[in-house]
Formats: sequence, C-alpha cells, structure tokens
Amino acid sequence: MTAEIRLFPCLSDNFGYLIHDPATGATASIDAPDAGQIIQALERAGWTLTDILVTHHHQDHVGGIAELKAKYNCRVVAPHDKGTAIALVDERVKEGDTVKVGNLVARVFETPGHTLDHISYVFDADRALFCADTLFSIGCGRVFEGDYPMMWNSLLKLRALPNDMRVYCGHEYTASNVKFALGIEPDNPALQARAAEVTKQRAAGQPTVPTLIRDEKEANVFLRADVPSVAAAVGLAGKSPAEVFGELRERKNKG
Ligand code: ZN
Ligand code: FE
Repeated sequence: MTAEIRLFPCLSDNFGYLIHDPATGATASIDAPDAGQIIQALERAGWTLTDILVTHHHQDHVGGIAELKAKYNCRVVAPHDKGTAIALVDERVKEGDTVKVGNLVARVFETPGHTLDHISYVFDADRALFCADTLFSIGCGRVFEGDYPMMWNSLLKLRALPNDMRVYCGHEYTASNVKFALGIEPDNPALQARAAEVTKQRAAGQPTVPTLIRDEKEANVFLRADVPSVAAAVGLAGKSPAEVFGELRERKNKG
C-alpha cells in the first residue's frame, strides 16, 4: 500500500501536510504551522499523529509542535543543527539519514540557504518531496541565512530528483512567482501553460500544489539559472549560474 497525503491551508499562506501509512496507521505532519488546523485535518481523516517532520526553525513551521506533542505524544524529528531553537525534538537528522513513518521511508536532504538548518524529506517510493521554503512552485525561498551559491546548490539537489517526483512546498506563493517569472521569460511555453493553469486553480479556490519536478525544471526560472537565455535576460550572459541565481533572487526580493 502506498502513502496517503492530505494537504490543507494553514495560517495565512502556509500549507499543512499529513502523510499516512495505511499499513501501520502511522501519520506524520510535515512541519507544524498551526496545531488547531492540523488537529482538524487529522480528525477529518480519522488519523492519529505519530510523527512531526520538521524542515527548519522558522516560527510558521514549528509554532504548533508543543500543542501537538502534548496531545499525541508524537515523535519530533528535526534538523541536525542544534544551534537553532526547535523545542521538544526527539531525533536529529542530517544528510543521508532515513526517517520512517510506519513503513514509509524518507531520505533526508540538507537544503540550506533559506536557513542554515533547512532540510527536505524525500519519500522515494511514494514520489513525494517535502521541500518547505527551499523550492516553491515557480519560485524559491528567500535566502536569509545562507548565501546564493549555497541556495543554488540546494536547488540543484532537488532538481536532480526524478521527473515524476511530486513537489509539496511550504507556501502558496505560486501566483506571485508566476508573475515574476513571466517578467524574465515571457516566451517560455511551459511557463505560459503553468500561468494559465495557476489562474484557473486560484479562481476555483484550489491549491497550486503538488507540482512535478519535471514541470518545475521547465517553468521555474529559479531552477533555470544555468540556462543561457535566462542569464542573458538578466544581463549576465556567460556568468556563473550561482551569480545568475543571485540576481534573480534579488530582483524578486525587490518586486
Ligand atoms: Zn521559512
Ligand atoms: Fe515558511
């Protein structure tokens, strides 16, 4: 049996995610943006929380841990970096570690840049990537704690995943990301198609995730900093992908 995944809005623009193993009944929440909304989602599904898989230390990803831990006595798995103040952690994980949720298996990828402690969880057999604030659909997280080469490197790791890997990101920022990306690559047909799809999804009140790694590779300008036409579009023809990426990120920050 394969994993069941539920997604639901949390806080103003976060996604809440539950991943459930029907064989064992185990259920993990990816991050804990809002305990109340996660409890409601669990009750709707009839599931009991066994694990919280934390991606990074920001409040909108850890704010619900204490309440969930008190209610379910679940295991809290968090990044290796003990320098960050995540409370009530049971297990620290680093690059190459695996985490089991019942019989489901996730690999841990260190994806620093947005924060230094940021990790992503890759459920290979279930084709599900939980990448929080590293990779968004048609965008990426702001680089708060790392630098541009570090973040670019993290994005390359995710880009190398199989094309049919589903991307479950941390925030619903897709419409604004599409607007920015079209300013850089107005003639990219994959981006144009994605723009039309996102307009439809938003009008229908639907989430714009998950997407696929394949689609992000074609339409997400932040994964395309090593495409010569993208470098040229920001006036950096011939420069390194990390420099082009940095320029894209700075322009988006200002936009
Ligand atoms: Zn964050
Ligand atoms: Fe966030």
